[in-house]
Amino acid sequence: MSYGSAGAAAVQDRLRVEYAPTDRASCKSCGTGMPKGSVKLGEKVRSPWHDGWDIKFCKVKCAIHKANGMPHEISHLQKLKWKDQVEIVEMMGKTVEKGAATEALKARSDKLYALIEVLQGMTKANIKELCEANGSQVHGDKAAPPDMAYTAADGLLYGKLGECPWCKSEALQQEGNLVRCMGYLTAGTRCTYSICEGPLFGSAPCTKVGALPERGAPWLLTDAAEKSLKKAKYNLPTAAGAAGGSGGAAGSGAGAAAADDDAAESEEEEEAAEGTAMVGLTFASVGSTDPPAAALQQLVAAHGGAWVSGGIGDGGGITHLISTAAEARKPKGKKAAK
Ligand SMILES: [Zn+2]
Ligand SMILES: [Zn+2]
Repeated sequence: MSYGSAGAAAVQDRLRVEYAPTDRASCKSCGTGMPKGSVKLGEKVRSPWHDGWDIKFCKVKCAIHKANGMPHEISHLQKLKWKDQVEIVEMMGKTVEKGAATEALKARSDKLYALIEVLQGMTKANIKELCEANGSQVHGDKAAPPDMAYTAADGLLYGKLGECPWCKSEALQQEGNLVRCMGYLTAGTRCTYSICEGPLFGSAPCTKVGALPERGAPWLLTDAAEKSLKKAKYNLPTAAGAAGGSGGAAGSGAGAAAADDDAAESEEEEEAAEGTAMVGLTFASVGSTDPPAAALQQLVAAHGGAWVSGGIGDGGGITHLISTAAEARKPKGKKAAK
């Protein structure tokens, strides 16, 4: 299947970076091995086998050209260690600007990774418990310990991010100057809410620009986490220092967070709890609808419906077509899904 460059850019999380969790995979481009802990770059491609996407992982140097020199096109870039972010940006022929904003991002990343390293000494079950005890819904069942450690470190250092304004789950995650939702609207549809403070490495943000959400009280330690920190002689900074001006709610939310603890709901339950009113229905939109197609898609997905974007062909399989009155009056052949 092919799509134009504009279409490719519109695919959510088309490119992403992450650390290789094992030594076993090899680069889908050159075939050489990708060592554990090295950065791999994944590209979402239409699956030839099923109605969905596959992710083709390559070494960064083998696939970096796909980002067209735009760092913001690479999802989770700012979740990497600072040195890896810089290396990738420079590989794209860009220089990381000097200045206070850059220093702040570097300091944030370094501080996070110092704690992530400590948290990674915990068992997977214990990291998961730490996330759940603090009400986090960032991770699904297949979450890898490094991802959960990242979320936990951020919460312990900077405080709770609160619920996503779109999907209402506690699944917001900060990556550098960006906050994005990692939650799902349904079992298979990611919530795409995101907001960023400004450009990233000279590249225009593809998301809404604005102030990042206020932070709440810092995450609470579980017994296991407290033990790990003690063992590593790691002292959490005081909340006032860590929160970075986001309000000194230190400790005041402690009781509330602890109360969430006994709920300990699993990810499956969270996903099943989403609306199911539109399950089995397939929607598409034509013309410039209000709200726009992207918002409609979120809405449909939130209630369990399926959404068809791109060419709708003869419309087979679509149960509901959303259009404006003007669009509906056009001759049949002129319609094209947004
Ligand atoms: Zn390669
Ligand atoms: Zn969300």
